Amino acid sequence: MAIPLFFVAHWYASLFAQTFFLHRYAAHRMYQMNKFWERFFFLFTWVAQGSSFLNPRAYAILHRLHHAHSDTAKDPHSPVQHPNIFKMMWETKNYYYGLLTQRITVAREFLHGYPTWNKFEQFAEGWVSRIGWGAFYVVFYLLMDPAWYWYLLLPIHFLMGPIHGAIVNWAGHKLGYQNFKNGDNSRNTLAFDFVTLGELFQNNHHKFPLKANFAVRWWEFDPGYFAMKVLNRLGVIRMRSKRKYTPDQIAADAPVSEQHVAAEPEVIEREMQEGVPVHTLNETYLK
Ligand SMILES: [Zn+2]
Ligand SMILES: [Zn+2]
Repeated sequence: MAIPLFFVAHWYASLFAQTFFLHRYAAHRMYQMNKFWERFFFLFTWVAQGSSFLNPRAYAILHRLHHAHSDTAKDPHSPVQHPNIFKMMWETKNYYYGLLTQRITVAREFLHGYPTWNKFEQFAEGWVSRIGWGAFYVVFYLLMDPAWYWYLLLPIHFLMGPIHGAIVNWAGHKLGYQNFKNGDNSRNTLAFDFVTLGELFQNNHHKFPLKANFAVRWWEFDPGYFAMKVLNRLGVIRMRSKRKYTPDQIAADAPVSEQHVAAEPEVIEREMQEGVPVHTLNETYLK
């Protein structure tokens, strides 16, 4: 029993780190938090992703490029551009390391607003950390001494972060239904996305990259947004603006904005203090 519980705990902890911290915060800045909580979730991401820790800066840049070039030849991880999921994962890995080592350079517009912690990043990406976490998973399995077939789950523990990314990008751009014509192949794979905490509403998310709730229809549910609302209520984060979304607005099918990153933190801070609507670069659908 300990092994399935451990697997499920690792799956959801890693997934939460990815959707809440790397995706919604580092890449899109959907909410703000103070330095303490930013560092806390930085550490949480390291613990949760362990051997497959993903650097927030490289993740954010890679993901913004994905939004800007969704499913075109310039998209760093599109199933449309690759013959199978393994090839897509491999190419994504190469691109990710290119960004991490700054071998690949990208336009300045992609290079701002993500959390950084240089010394800790170097440690978390180092082989001591990666192998240490890998050894921890193996030792845990050995101590629990499960039937041999449970050991087949170990590679998933080793590569948890990239596997979640691959599932989201493969299924979310290949399988499911579309609410919007985004000019790409994005899909909503599940109406109740409990498997990836809301990440599989790719079609909705590509339409409105800054909308905190990835669900738009009344019967769609985004657990990641629910978690954000709880943390917002607890004062851990501050979500930016309340975005109302009505069926009329869905029907209006507003044009896709090319902007996908929220305004500079200082601008958001000032506007929040002054009590005026928070400025974003993607609010056309609110009108
Ligand atoms: Zn996508
Ligand atoms: Zn996104």
